[in-house]
Amino acid sequence: MHSFLNHPIKTLKEFFLFPTYISKKDDFLPVCFFSEDKKAFLKQFSKHKSKSLVAIGYCSKPYNSQDKRLCCPSGRFNHRCMFLENINLKANSFSYPSTVCKECIIGKVGKEVIAAGYPFYIMTSAMDIAKDVFSFPFKRAILTLCPYSSTIILYPLRIFNIEAIIFQYISGDCRTYKEFDLADRGIKRDTTNLSMIDLKEFLKIVEEISYDKFFVKVKREGNFLIGDWD
Ligand code: SF4
Repeated sequence: MHSFLNHPIKTLKEFFLFPTYISKKDDFLPVCFFSEDKKAFLKQFSKHKSKSLVAIGYCSKPYNSQDKRLCCPSGRFNHRCMFLENINLKANSFSYPSTVCKECIIGKVGKEVIAAGYPFYIMTSAMDIAKDVFSFPFKRAILTLCPYSSTIILYPLRIFNIEAIIFQYISGDCRTYKEFDLADRGIKRDTTNLSMIDLKEFLKIVEEISYDKFFVKVKREGNFLIGDWD
C-alpha cells in the first residue's frame, strides 16, 4: 500500500483509465504491455538484468489432492522451490527432490533464468506481490498468470511503469472472484497450465534472454531466488 501512496496521481489516473485498457485485452493471448516492440523489450530485459523479473504463479506447482507423491515437495502456497534451492550449477550438479520436478515449469524456467543472472519469483498472494514486486524498482517483467488476475495486475504495472509480457493460463485458472479470493489465501486445488503454443513461446523467450549463463548456486533473497555469485 505504501508503494501506491508514493504515486497518488498516477494511481488515480490509472484507476480512471483502467476500464479502457482492459476492454482491449485479449483473454487467451500473451498480454504484451510495452512501449516498443518485442525485440526491443527483450533487448532491454537482458541488458538490465537486476531490474528484470521472471515470475510464475504458485498454482503452477504440481498438485494432486489424492496423492502426495504427485505434489510439489516444497509445499504449495509459498515462494519456495526445493529443486532450485539445492541446485549447484557451479559444480554442474542438480538432482530432483521428486519426480514431479522433472516436468515442473517452475524448476525448468527458474534454472535457466537464475543462471543467466535474473531474479526469479514464485508469486503467491496479491499482498505479497505488492510487497515484493512493487516495492522494488523493476522495469520489466515476464509473468504467467490466469486471465482473471492478469486483468487486475495491469493496473499496478501501469502505475509503476513496469513493462511486461503476461502469458495466461488456459487451464486450472481462477475464473471468478470467489476462486481468485480462495487462491489468494492458498486454497487452490487445480494446477494451472499454459497452452502448448504459449508454453513453447514462453520457453523460447526464456532461452533467448538466458543465452549467457554462468555456473552458480542459488540463494534466497527475501522471497526471490537469485544466483549466488560468491
Ligand atoms: S521444481 Fe516444481 S515441483 Fe519441484 S520443488 Fe520446485 S516448484 Fe516444486
